[in-house]
Amino acid sequence: MSTATQNQTYLNFINGEWQASSSEKSQGSINPTNPDEVVGNYQLSTKEDLNQAIEAADHAKTAWRKLAAPERGNYLFKIADILETRVDEIAETMTREMGKTFPEAKGETMRGVAILRYYAGEGMRKTGDVIPSTDKDALMFTKRSPLGVVGVITPWNFPVAIPIWKMAPALVYGNTVVFKPAQEAAITAAKVMECMAEANLPQGVVNFITGSGSTIGQGLVDHPKVDGITFTGSENVGRRIGQGALARGAKYQLEMGGKNPVIVAADADLDLAVDATISGGLKSTGQKCTATSRVIVQSSIYDEFKEKLLEKVKQIKVGDGLKEDSWMGPCASESQFNTVSSYIDKGKEEGAVLLYGGEPVKEEKGYFITPAVFENVTSEMAIAQEEIFGPVLALMKVETIEEAIEVANDVEFGLSASIFTTNIQNFLSFIDDMEAGLVRVNAESAGVELQAPFGGMKRSSSHSREQGEAAIEFFTSIKTVFVK
Ligand code: NAD
Repeated sequence: MSTATQNQTYLNFINGEWQASSSEKSQGSINPTNPDEVVGNYQLSTKEDLNQAIEAADHAKTAWRKLAAPERGNYLFKIADILETRVDEIAETMTREMGKTFPEAKGETMRGVAILRYYAGEGMRKTGDVIPSTDKDALMFTKRSPLGVVGVITPWNFPVAIPIWKMAPALVYGNTVVFKPAQEAAITAAKVMECMAEANLPQGVVNFITGSGSTIGQGLVDHPKVDGITFTGSENVGRRIGQGALARGAKYQLEMGGKNPVIVAADADLDLAVDATISGGLKSTGQKCTATSRVIVQSSIYDEFKEKLLEKVKQIKVGDGLKEDSWMGPCASESQFNTVSSYIDKGKEEGAVLLYGGEPVKEEKGYFITPAVFENVTSEMAIAQEEIFGPVLALMKVETIEEAIEVANDVEFGLSASIFTTNIQNFLSFIDDMEAGLVRVNAESAGVELQAPFGGMKRSSSHSREQGEAAIEFFTSIKTVFVK
């Protein structure tokens, strides 16, 4: 595998051209497996650069809106084909930049290709309805209009799939885009942008700008020519963005954190539940918004489940995600590593019992930590309430399924939740009573299919939905047309 990107500085893409920032400043994106390695440099752009990007998107929006939707879709097919030729290279960059293992990075990049093709097809589907009027001589129907300029603000944990699942629907429904990626994964994002640039979209339709959240992210939120903001990231930042967008009447969509439970019922297939808890909780080093973090187990099978879980967790090979035998990579950055370590300490201080893991891997230079399993966790504890975003599982013991669902709901987040059970009454109650946007039965908490709506309840979301047909709701407004 190559290291060809090292020392290259990735530029902004504004109005159809790669451009140097007026700041002339850049920053290295660090490999969390080997913090001495710079994967590539991204620019610390200025408000002036941002204004240019927004002006370009604003200028391009009318012609793009007037292009036939199937033609907009054809551009997405083209981007998908280009991205498909670069899957291995982009996945390798992702592994080096944010640490997830190569097979996971490759799966995510191929998902990006599939999402582009799905929304390319959306360009051919109906976007309105005819509604009977009480006036027999009138024609009444709905028509979708794009918002205009959409600001896309994304996190580092899915640096290919999330930007694509926002930009593809934005574009096919006729919006122009200004895309600001997370700094920690800016090089991977720049490569996605290269694929878009190669597809020769009209100038200004997609613009890419790197830099800090406070300058570029906030600047997008505050700019009067940005008509919609779609954001995925942490709750604190999301709330601020929501307030800023609301204050000036821009449309916004926020997808934020989770504190996702798995319930293991007494009648569950325990081997299945163990494997899904490990996969849902620890893949990507637990750095998924849908990652399992609380494992709520009925007391009659608690000991058996715990032993089976520990036996398998202890076998997990932590290491460089580019090596074939590594199952779990590092935390994505030093600050992630410090946050996870501080939650491990907090869990112990609060009286939870650390059964295994939570240790730095001493023989490695990077931000590696062994997967942690706590027990005796209760709902008041920080490790049961706050999003850790790391490889930490909290075991909680309950007597009944009613109690399990009550404990599962006893958090402010509501993104995803799973139950393992063979009893129909259990899973019917769970589907009805669980306060989460993704509710999964006999499947890990972290699965998402691109053709189905995705989003959270409670504090996890602003309650609109991404992906699938649901995406049209955010990226367009409905016009009701009456013709006589
Ligand atoms: P983050 O909130 O720190 O950053 C997200 C993006 O917001 C980055 O591009 C950042 O530069 C930008 N930003 C920061 N400050 C800003 C400001 N003041 N104004 C505008 N933009 C600003 O999140 P992160 O650490 O990159 O990602 C991890 C978080 O993302 C976790 O909380 C995770 O649960 C969440 N996440 C949620 C989903 C979901 O779909 N619900 C998916 C993936 C990740």
